Amino acid sequence: MNIILLGPPGAGKGTQARFLVEERNMIQLSTGDMLREAKDSGTEMGKIVADVMARGDLVTDEIVIGLIREKLEGDKAGGFIFDGFPRTLAQADALGDLLKEEGETLDAVVEMQVDDTALVARITARSTCAGCGEVYNDNTKPIPADGVCTSCGEAKEFKRRADDNEDSLKQRLMEYYKKTSPLIGYYYAKGDLKSVDGLADIDVVKGAIDNALS
Ligand code: ADP
Ligand code: ADP
Ligand code: ZN
Repeated sequence: MNIILLGPPGAGKGTQARFLVEERNMIQLSTGDMLREAKDSGTEMGKIVADVMARGDLVTDEIVIGLIREKLEGDKAGGFIFDGFPRTLAQADALGDLLKEEGETLDAVVEMQVDDTALVARITARSTCAGCGEVYNDNTKPIPADGVCTSCGEAKEFKRRADDNEDSLKQRLMEYYKKTSPLIGYYYAKGDLKSVDGLADIDVVKGAIDNALS
């Protein structure tokens, strides 16, 4: 099964993708994570995208489609979770073509509905374990007092993203509404869209996604 998790920054896509990876042996394809890796390892592409990401603008379609193409040609395990991709209509079309070339189908697009005021609070409180990527939140899922990650059991650094500040978030939200939100209509018209309430507690959202995929 191949699915898209669709929603604005902070909607909870990464948090929910981790459950699907664990329970369904799916492969999470987060273009944001791939771009951050390229940036951290200092590749040519990483240098090009660094400023764009810091501002909260979208990276070119060509770059992210290239990243996804590479992954689709590899191991497919229990299917792919597209997290943060596609973000434009051109990316959505390209994904359809790439899946077709691989003889794969898109089985569902899960739209995570949240309201904008919740996003600022969520994102400015977000951190992730440098060891395993577990997502924490100062308000709703605080880093354990002993500094040991509940997921991997190690005391690694808990990282905050450079673009998780109010200014960059404003720009990321603008990009979302201008370029990504049209995908909701696009996938609705295709008959693939399932919407869940992303404002509910994490385990309730998880249940709603499980229902949507069953
Ligand atoms: P969030 O988790 O807040 O939704 P991501 O980690 O998915 O954010 O993305 C971080 C940044 O990486 C984006 O602001 C954008 O600059 C870039 N990016 C990630 N995915 C894409 C994409 N599919 N198309 C264009 N830019 C992307
Ligand atoms: P995205 O990948 O869509 O940008 P994340 O999964 O990183 O979003 O979640 C953003 C922040 O919100 C994180 O700090 C996470 O712990 C928190 N969060 C995720 N889902 C929920 C939820 N249902 N209720 C409250 N906080 C949540
Ligand atoms: Zn960890």
